[in-house]
Amino acid sequence: MVDSGLRKPVVFTDLDGTLLDHDSYSWVAAKPALDELKRIGSPCIFNSSKTLAEMLQLARETGVCAPLICENGGGVAIPAGWQPGDQDCGDYRPQNYRLHALGAPRERILEQLEPLRGRYRFRSYCQMSAAEVAQRTGLAEPDAENSMQRNFTEPCVWEDSDAAFDQFRQELENCDLLVQRGGRFAHVMGRSDKGGALKWCMARWFDESNWLSVAAGDGENDIAMLDAADIAILVRSQHLNPPHCANPNSRLTDDYGPAGWSGAILAELNRGDL
Ligand SMILES: [Mg+2]
Repeated sequence: MVDSGLRKPVVFTDLDGTLLDHDSYSWVAAKPALDELKRIGSPCIFNSSKTLAEMLQLARETGVCAPLICENGGGVAIPAGWQPGDQDCGDYRPQNYRLHALGAPRERILEQLEPLRGRYRFRSYCQMSAAEVAQRTGLAEPDAENSMQRNFTEPCVWEDSDAAFDQFRQELENCDLLVQRGGRFAHVMGRSDKGGALKWCMARWFDESNWLSVAAGDGENDIAMLDAADIAILVRSQHLNPPHCANPNSRLTDDYGPAGWSGAILAELNRGDL
């Protein structure tokens, strides 16, 4: 048990399968807890492999006003003049956000991938049309276009053997890049992750004597974030086993996806000591 005293929670949350339903991408089931966080002035910080363009659209739809951690901790987009407690951004256009880089720029990633294309079989986002991305992800084409506006990561479809993948990973590590295998793609990126981005935000805005970090996620790429938080919420998934996090203050949600997320956040808020 964490003695939370009078600390106010700040929530860091994964999106796909966590705040958004894995299949329908709907956030509606998460609304009760989103509304309550807003009412008490607790920030809800999206922390996802999605791009800034994709996250801005969701921030606008949900009315969530907070920094956005995009592309697996590659960067943090900060609303102009934002301070913890601000709950209405008003303007959700990219020009109202300042992008702070934490990971390697995509140009450098593409430069390092170029010589590997002849030796391994894979296709990456920069070779795909919006129609191909839409077909591979099930996204509508305008959403696929938003997912293509990348700054810090390059998703690849791996078409080679597992042994070749291990070698590919080693070659990338030699030039200080990481590759993380997700549900649909292998993501090539710099040495940044969701946990490092959470720590960066905590150090910048949230004094630990006043704020309690709560992280929620359903996948392997959430583990660094779940371990870095005071409280970890493992969101039950119909498609994945719960991530193995080492955080002693972790709870598994009762329900799946956004409904589970909402129930677990409300339970934390109702524990009476926040
Ligand atoms: Mg997820």
